[in-house]
Amino acid sequence: MKNFFQSVLKHIDKLDGAKLREQYRLVTEEVKFFEMVFNAMNEGAVLYDLTGEVVYRNPSAEKFGEIEVPLGKASKFEVLLTYPEEYILEVQTIPFERGTLAMIRDVSAERERTAQELERGATKSVCDLAAGIAHEIGNPLNAISLNLQILERDPSDKEAIDICKTQVKRLDGIIRGFLSALRPQRPNLSPGSVAEPLKNCLAAFKSQFEDRKIAVTLDVPSAVPPVALDKDKIEQVFFNLIKNALEALPDAGTIDVEIVSDDKDVVVSFRDSGYGMSSEQLAHLFEPYRTTKEHGTGLGLMISARIVRDHGGAISVESKEGEGTLFTVRLPRLERRVRVLK
Ligand code: ADP
Ligand code: MG
Repeated sequence: MKNFFQSVLKHIDKLDGAKLREQYRLVTEEVKFFEMVFNAMNEGAVLYDLTGEVVYRNPSAEKFGEIEVPLGKASKFEVLLTYPEEYILEVQTIPFERGTLAMIRDVSAERERTAQELERGATKSVCDLAAGIAHEIGNPLNAISLNLQILERDPSDKEAIDICKTQVKRLDGIIRGFLSALRPQRPNLSPGSVAEPLKNCLAAFKSQFEDRKIAVTLDVPSAVPPVALDKDKIEQVFFNLIKNALEALPDAGTIDVEIVSDDKDVVVSFRDSGYGMSSEQLAHLFEPYRTTKEHGTGLGLMISARIVRDHGGAISVESKEGEGTLFTVRLPRLERRVRVLK
């Protein structure tokens, strides 16, 4: 297709009237063809120009209404609509020279199905999870066993004790991740600040940051507006995001963490200078078992998105291959909270 246009463009100065008309007819046919495809698509497609003006919207997009998208960026995020009924839209943006294309999909049924499948313990899900777990607990168990041997010789070795403690905590985290994938629980919400779980999480990673010479910055305002949160669950979200950032980084990369707030939300963002993601990868982000890692579970983001959604918030990602990734978690401010959780 691209080749066709390119070759016409290349020779356009040499084409006479009749040839031009013929080419014009072919182009019109191509445009009609694409229109037909866009019209038949279940996904909503909205095209924005560089200033953010909508220049095209396919019929499916009409039913989704106005959606705000980041312009000129490859991104993916979910929008939770609660009126007239609750449904979840998934939006992916694809930037190009003259604007941004947004693809919109209703994923409510899909998300519901995944949750039910996991809850019922669908065989494949459980096998995959178990395989992931079996692998993940190997390393901490080895470390513990090694350090217990050290302690046998020298019971006062403080470092060995610390390592054991850290590894036990890690095991606990792995098991908890496993369980929460299988049996998602409604969060136990109470008013609080996102700063606390965030700091806990960063502290847990401190030695890894140091070992790998990762420069981490943390920008937290002196007063963070309260949100209704389940601290353990939100900590799990932050943990997953930081872990992913670490796994995407070469040694000596950077992670910048920031809390900001606007009228409606408290926003926590994680920017890494890692390898980023392609549009293709973004397209399948938040789906279970989608992993590019040899020993990944592909569940971290799915669980995180569900937790954030259960808080009435939203998670979004912007990424550029080779340049890094920005994950953003939005939680509604307590005093602005309108959504009532079931
Ligand atoms: P896992 O980490 O087990 O693979 P996740 O659900 O946490 O599962 O992540 C799914 C996939 O998303 C990862 O395999 C990776 O390809 C991609 N990904 C997530 N976070 C990042 C990031 N910060 N940078 C680049 N790719 C990422
Ligand atoms: Mg992960």
